[in-house]
Amino acid sequence: MRHSIEAEKLGVAGSGAAQAISSCVHCGFCLSSCPTYLTLGEEMDSPRGRIVLMKEALEGAIDLRSARPYIDNCLSCLACETACPSGVAYRDLITPFRAYIDSECRRPFPERLLRSLLLGTVQSPSRLRLALRVTRLLRPLRPLLGDELQASIAAALERLATAAQSTRQPVKGSSPTTQQGDGPPPAGRGRVGLLAGCAQQVLAPQINRAAERVLARNGIQAITPSEAGCCGALSLHAGALRQARVRARRNLDAFDEDLDAIVSTTAGCSSGMKEYPLLFAGDPDEERARSFAGKVRDISALLTEIGLTAAPPSASTPLRIACHDACHLAHAQSLRVQPRALLRAIGNVTLVQPAEWELCCGSAGTYNLNKPRIAAQLGRRKAKRLLEASPDLIATSNVGCMLQIEAHLRALGDTTPVLHAIEVLDRAYSGTLSPAGLDA
Ligand code: SF4
Ligand code: SF4
Repeated sequence: MRHSIEAEKLGVAGSGAAQAISSCVHCGFCLSSCPTYLTLGEEMDSPRGRIVLMKEALEGAIDLRSARPYIDNCLSCLACETACPSGVAYRDLITPFRAYIDSECRRPFPERLLRSLLLGTVQSPSRLRLALRVTRLLRPLRPLLGDELQASIAAALERLATAAQSTRQPVKGSSPTTQQGDGPPPAGRGRVGLLAGCAQQVLAPQINRAAERVLARNGIQAITPSEAGCCGALSLHAGALRQARVRARRNLDAFDEDLDAIVSTTAGCSSGMKEYPLLFAGDPDEERARSFAGKVRDISALLTEIGLTAAPPSASTPLRIACHDACHLAHAQSLRVQPRALLRAIGNVTLVQPAEWELCCGSAGTYNLNKPRIAAQLGRRKAKRLLEASPDLIATSNVGCMLQIEAHLRALGDTTPVLHAIEVLDRAYSGTLSPAGLDA
C-alpha cells in the first residue's frame, strides 16, 4: 500500500530530503550535466530519474532493492545542483537515502566485505601504504584475474600504486619540508589548522608541504594536529553514517577552538567537513560541529579571502594552464573563481577552459574502485577534453582528480604534468614554474 513520504525514515535529515523531492519540477535541465546519464543513457541514471526512484522507494511504491543499482551508480558529484534552475538540493536527498537503503536492506556479504575493505583501506594511511605495497608485489599475477571487474579494480589499485611510487616528488629548489606548527609563527596574519587527510598524505604528501610554504610566505601559521585524521566524507557518502561520525568527532576534538580557520587542500575534505552539522544533527555535538564547519575553508578560498601579500614571480616562459574543476569544489562549494584567482596572480600564465568543465573525471572518492568501468569511461573522456585545450600544465584541487586524470593522460600517451593549484603557486614562489621545472 502506498503511503506518503515520512521524513523520519531518513532520520533528522528527512525534511531536507522531502524538500529536495518536492522542489524538482522534472524539467530535465540537469540531464546534460550528469556524467552517468551521459555515459549510460538511462533515465534512471539521471538526477531526475533518481529523484523519482528515491521518492517512490520512500513511499513504498517500489522495492528499495530495485532502486539501489541506480543510486550506487551516482557519483555524488553534484553537477545536477549546479545545473538545476529550481535549486533542488540533491545532496540533502542522496546522502541520507544512501544511509537509509543500507540500513533497510543488507547487501550480499561479498559486496559488504569489498566496500568495507575499500573504505577501511583508503581512509587509513597505514592500511593504504600496505595495500599499495601488496598491489605492487602482486602485479605479475594480474593477468590471472579472469573476471573483468576484478581486473578493473586491480588496475585501479595499480594506478594508485604507480602514482604514489613515481610522480609525487618534492619541488626541486624549494625550501625543505617543515611542519609550520613546529617552528616560530611567521609574521602574524593568523593561525590555521591544516587537515592532513587520509589518502592524500600517502599518495601526494607534497601538496600540504606546498600549502604550508605558501601560507608561511603570506604570513599564516599552519598547524597540522597529529590527532586529526580522515574527514569522514567517504564514509558519509557511502551511507556509513556511524563510521563518518566517529571520524568527524576525532577532528572536532583535534583542532583548537581558537584557530582562525580549518583548511584543507582536498576539495572532497573541505566539502565533507562543511557537512558536519548534517552529520551531527540532533546530537549533543551539533553546535560544536556547526562552529567547526563555519571555519572550514578550501585553501584557495582562504587565500583569496585574505589576499596574497607576497606577489608570486612570473613563470620564466609563457605557460598555458588548463584548470580542472574538482566537483566538490565547483559544485559542492561553488568555488570556481578562487583557484583561478590564485593562478592568475602568477605572471606569464594563460588559463584555458576545457570543454565539459562540469563533468566529473570519474575519481569521486572510492567510485573508481567500486565502479571501475564507468569511472574509466569518464576518465578517458576528461583526459581528451583537457588535451583539446592544449595545455602545458593541468591544475586542479583534489588529489583523486589528479591521479585519475594523470592515469588517463598517460594511457593516451600524453605526458602533460598534473599538479594541485597550490603546488603551481608554490613553484612560482620558488622560481621553478617553467617547462624545465615541471619535469623535475
Ligand atoms: S533536478 Fe532540477 S534540473 Fe533536474 S529535473 Fe529536477 S528541477 Fe529539473
Ligand atoms: S550527483 Fe552527479 S552522478 Fe549523481 S545524479 Fe547528480 S550529476 Fe548525476
